[in-house]
Amino acid sequence: MRIHVTYTGGTIGMVDSPRGLVPGADPENRLDAALKEAGRSIGGISLTALSPLIDSSDATPESWQRIIDGLRASASEADAFVILHGTDTMAHTCAALSYALTDLGRPVVVTGSQLPLGAVGSDAAPNIAGALRAAASRRARGVGLFFGHRLLAGNRAVKASSWAFDAFDSPAVAPLARAGAPWRWAPAPPPGAGWPDPRPYTRQDAVVIDLFPGITAARLEAMLTPRPDAVILRAFGVGNIPDGEPGLTDVLASAIGAGTAVVVISQCHQGGVRLGRYAAGDALARAGAVSGADMTPEAAYVKAVFLLSQGLRGSGLAAWMGRSIAGELDDRPAGA
Ligand code: ASP
Repeated sequence: MRIHVTYTGGTIGMVDSPRGLVPGADPENRLDAALKEAGRSIGGISLTALSPLIDSSDATPESWQRIIDGLRASASEADAFVILHGTDTMAHTCAALSYALTDLGRPVVVTGSQLPLGAVGSDAAPNIAGALRAAASRRARGVGLFFGHRLLAGNRAVKASSWAFDAFDSPAVAPLARAGAPWRWAPAPPPGAGWPDPRPYTRQDAVVIDLFPGITAARLEAMLTPRPDAVILRAFGVGNIPDGEPGLTDVLASAIGAGTAVVVISQCHQGGVRLGRYAAGDALARAGAVSGADMTPEAAYVKAVFLLSQGLRGSGLAAWMGRSIAGELDDRPAGA
């Protein structure tokens, strides 16, 4: 089993500086010992570090693409991949890799840590060991996120804690596996429709908007001016919008009429969207908004960027937002 590890930056390999933690010099040397220790039983482990290393708060669609290009370039020399990444936007990167690598045919496991490798009590070494073990398991598929003893579906994960060692959750679905003696694996989730030969990620005009009680049409209009190509609208409950607020749905209808795809997800962490259930959600559906089912905001935003990067716009983009590419949403009919 040959595992290729890519260090992209993040706390796991950071060092102290007068400005706080920064990506440290010579990460290969510092990570090498930890990888050898953790991967003793695995066989061949190779390591590359991306240049420049970044704090993942600085990640962009171009950074996702650099990781993807690196994985594709070493695909013939690796049976599985581990990515060491900052935690802040790890869920976004996992989603990005999941859409773009459905044809890779090898598992990718992303991990990081809350404390740098080598710090007293750090979670870095156990997370690296768990990610290597998951990658080598021959059971992992697609893109997973290993953190705090659990392997989660990468495009279902959210960063739920800025400090806890079990910082990530996948609120809508069960973990893929729990580390232990032995590891416990859940049945593999449906893989999605896939996307052969994707075009590279580029920066796109997609926005995430959170509804709040008291939002006015004028405020929403300002937030959507100029019109973006896609809006991920985090609505209440099963996908509701204040129905009694004059002009609010008209703003969305006007944006949709001008070619903006409006995708509704829920502010709830579990449950997903059912647009026709209440009049308040029906108004959104009538305006031409589509359901993003039970996608996380991270998965939905990144998916819009992915689809826009493929050249899709408007209703073509909206149709794919409700269809699973890589297991990021449950698109089975209700009750199935
Ligand atoms: N700011 C860091 C990053 O995301 C946080 C971390 O790695 O935990 O790169």
